[in-house]
Amino acid sequence: MSGAGRTLLLGGVVYSHSDPFATALLIDDGRIAWVGDDSGAQVHVDIADQVVHLDGAFVAPGFVDSHIHATSTGLVLTALDLSPVRSAGELLDAVQTHAQNVRGGLVYGHGWDETNWPDRTLPTRGDLDRAAWGSEVYLARVDVHSALISSALVARVREITEQAGYSSDGPVEQIAHEMARTAALERLSSASRERAQQATLHEALANGIVAVHEMAGPSIGGAQDAQALRALSDGQPLPKVDVYWGEVASPQAFETARDIGAYGLGGDLFVDGSLGSRTAALVEPYADAPTHGRQYLSRDEIEHHIRLTTEAGIPGGFHVIGDAACQDVTRAFESVALDLGADRVRGAGHRIEHAEMLTRADIASLASLGVTFSMQPVFDAWWGVSGGMYDQRLGTDRACGMNSFADIVAAGGHLTINSDSPVTPLRPWMAVRAAMEHTNPEQRISGRAAFNAHTRAGWRAVGQVEVGTITPGAPAHLAVWQVDDLQVRVPDERVQGWSTDPRAATPGLPDLDSGDPQCLATLVAGQCAYGHEYWESRSAG
Ligand SMILES: [Zn+2]
Repeated sequence: MSGAGRTLLLGGVVYSHSDPFATALLIDDGRIAWVGDDSGAQVHVDIADQVVHLDGAFVAPGFVDSHIHATSTGLVLTALDLSPVRSAGELLDAVQTHAQNVRGGLVYGHGWDETNWPDRTLPTRGDLDRAAWGSEVYLARVDVHSALISSALVARVREITEQAGYSSDGPVEQIAHEMARTAALERLSSASRERAQQATLHEALANGIVAVHEMAGPSIGGAQDAQALRALSDGQPLPKVDVYWGEVASPQAFETARDIGAYGLGGDLFVDGSLGSRTAALVEPYADAPTHGRQYLSRDEIEHHIRLTTEAGIPGGFHVIGDAACQDVTRAFESVALDLGADRVRGAGHRIEHAEMLTRADIASLASLGVTFSMQPVFDAWWGVSGGMYDQRLGTDRACGMNSFADIVAAGGHLTINSDSPVTPLRPWMAVRAAMEHTNPEQRISGRAAFNAHTRAGWRAVGQVEVGTITPGAPAHLAVWQVDDLQVRVPDERVQGWSTDPRAATPGLPDLDSGDPQCLATLVAGQCAYGHEYWESRSAG
């Protein structure tokens, strides 16, 4: 292990704004002690316990995935993946095979997306019962806001039939969906939960992720699930875990959050649902159905939550997607700021998740109140394409004005980007690239801004403003990448898309056109947590 003691890295390309031409760095007791070039590093060779020759590899701050669901992600990694299916028949075949493998146990699947199917007809509950030989089945849609379930699961949670969002044949949504998901997760043994969480944290490390924010809540696995996750990462060379607890502020909710050691009372506290499931709250009806969606929290409840968390000095927040929900959240923040003062609102460090349909005025207002925008660029890459899910649900006009990364950066807002895994995969470079290549060219941001939003901004969201850069004093949470080309990308393609001018003195980022860089090693507090073989092969004692 290389945690305690001094490790000198040589011969790399170091992504550091304090020294754009750095090739070497010294780690002392888990922190970065010095950054410079190889000749400057010679004075440190004798005092180093370990010298690692990087042979041109790229060393950068590790990524922060600031919105994940660890247990569901692990279940996707270890359970039935329905993202490749393209028809009801293929889905049923996959369920049948899996049901045989789990022999009467729960069939837990994820990732079907009927908007990609040539024929969008979903299987009936009867079809599912037959395919699963009568087992309990829970199959989350790709956005995890609705699910196909079997009669056996309904039989175990009888009250589900009286809840909003229940359907006797199609997918369950809203409260009925939350109930089904809770019931399915209850069937997990603590051993399979730990297996799932371990799988997630290791997958994160393998993708250069050094910290995650778990979006927990009463209907998403519960307090036990969040506690188990935190316990898993404590003291281990695993990604750091910060937890947000998604429950409306009350003495009870504050107590639960304290028990879990949650950083904030927010995250996936649902103001509305999702566009894919037509449960995001819209001002005008959906383009493809006569509904405005659903709003689970009223404007008064939203305001109450912001007021109580602000008064307690605890970060609050929400999951908010549709334009009606975005408006209510913005107005509620403004109203609390009028009452308690903008400084107090800013001081609490609130954040909002997704925020896909904010207007420019709303963005300016929220940015001025220090609200962090936690967003998922891959949503745009997947759903913002012409004829994609946004177009289908909203029509072209509304679909064009979404996920306004450039407006947020221009307004001085804190933008943190992430995966919402399992909704999109733990692939940070994919998110960086999606932010640079927004389907709406006006909302593209530079590689540097996108990289910052996926590293330093994630630490900042949990109050750690000194973390996430390669500067002396910062913790050595790093990732080492195999790259062929480093380039500096600017958003304004009318002038010049790429600049490789070394005089620019801006450290370069990998050229993502040749695919995602390969992660060679991930270091958490200076300890090699992933890529041990590579690390050992490059080290001299
Ligand atoms: Zn989420």
